[in-house]
Amino acid sequence: MSVATAAPASAPAPAVCPPLPVLGRDVTVPLVTGGEAGYAALDYAASAPALQRVWDDVAAYAPYYGSVHRGAGHLSQLSTDLFEKARATVAGFLGCRPADQVVFTRSTTDSLNLLARALPAGCRVFVFETEHHAALLPWPDAGVTVLDAPRTPRQAVQTLERALADRDHHGPALVCVTGASNVTGELWPVRELAAAAHAHGARIVLDAAQLAPHHPVSVTDLDVDWVAFSGHKLYAPFGSGVLAGRADWLRAAEPYLAGGGASRGVARRADGGVEVEWHESAARHEAGSPNVIGAYAVASACRALTEAGFDTLVAREQHLLRRLRAGLAEVPGVRVLSLFGDDAPRVGVLSFVVEGWNSSHFAAALSAEYGIGVRDGLFCAHPLLRTLLGAGAGARGGCGSPETAAGERSPHAVRVSFGAGTPDEHIDRFLSAVRELVRDGARWTYRTEGGRCVPVV
Ligand code: PLP
Repeated sequence: MSVATAAPASAPAPAVCPPLPVLGRDVTVPLVTGGEAGYAALDYAASAPALQRVWDDVAAYAPYYGSVHRGAGHLSQLSTDLFEKARATVAGFLGCRPADQVVFTRSTTDSLNLLARALPAGCRVFVFETEHHAALLPWPDAGVTVLDAPRTPRQAVQTLERALADRDHHGPALVCVTGASNVTGELWPVRELAAAAHAHGARIVLDAAQLAPHHPVSVTDLDVDWVAFSGHKLYAPFGSGVLAGRADWLRAAEPYLAGGGASRGVARRADGGVEVEWHESAARHEAGSPNVIGAYAVASACRALTEAGFDTLVAREQHLLRRLRAGLAEVPGVRVLSLFGDDAPRVGVLSFVVEGWNSSHFAAALSAEYGIGVRDGLFCAHPLLRTLLGAGAGARGGCGSPETAAGERSPHAVRVSFGAGTPDEHIDRFLSAVRELVRDGARWTYRTEGGRCVPVV
């Protein structure tokens, strides 16, 4: 595995650093059972809290905020400079090649949709059914081959190789693959998949939405053609994402949005139409006033994570993950979902079901009775969840007590996810809540509202 650095469960625990300061660490939330609790944010995979450092950087810059690429004033000049420097910082963070472009987008979803619009004519796209919908859905339907879920990293490479070898034409092709699953946290063999893609004349885009917050990602070392990630999962929740990589397809494509900023020159044609000369730089796909604070925040997060050191961050996260997995393994009826098996390297994202429990009920009880924020559902990866849970995964059980719900399928899952800001105490509190809920059941009554379980108040 090329991006895996997880230590085996038996390895001695490495020295573990304290969590990085994040916003919200002192927030308390009301409990239905009375009183309040410190909020344990264990849904980093959806959106991570802002790093304090990112917040401070944004606050320090905010008074100097100005328009980008258009103003003559001092603050516009300053903001333009910071925006372009943010691009360079992100390029460094991602280990980009000198000719690569870094386009600021809104999110990973936006980045992959942008790339989908930039595909050359006749391009075939290969994607595993296990992908997040952001990576599964943007591609033109006629050109997509959806590959079966592999059960080992090796099988993933073999499946891809076979599909690429079998393709009936040798025009352009693109493989889209995740670096770390948003459901199981398992790492995918990115470098091997990139080598397979290139050996068959295809290109590859890495969905690093879940990988970049946990591991160093190097476009050059992994030899991927593009990488996409979201600022809000990288501790920079200010509305920016990134698509970085090869310039040629991006430069040849129509602008993602037409408008000011993307155009270098516009003239009225004799026939009454409009002639446009589009930029060839990243600005081509950034029409409109760019989100300079978002880009600045992403660059700040890149700097903060690099300075904290991924070795240290990974050691801390793997320490928490071992603790979490060992704790869950001791709770009767808890089944942790996995595609690649127990020994697969993974990041701090884990999904599970509890026998006899509706997952929405379980997650609602964790929140309402313990102040612990996790996620339940199918995590925008419906085909993967169906593979992991079996048929009938679309159905929903009730929100009754474990006794009344006993025997029901738990068709959805609960996901717990964490990262650089998570203290040990949150994992311990989560484990103790899981043990208590499984042993004693919920202490409150819940009902279904809009398909979700909510406490009756
Ligand atoms: N890819 C993966 C693996 C994800 O987990 C997510 C979000 O959860 C996305 C893509 C989409 O990210 P965003 O919602 O920021 O566009």
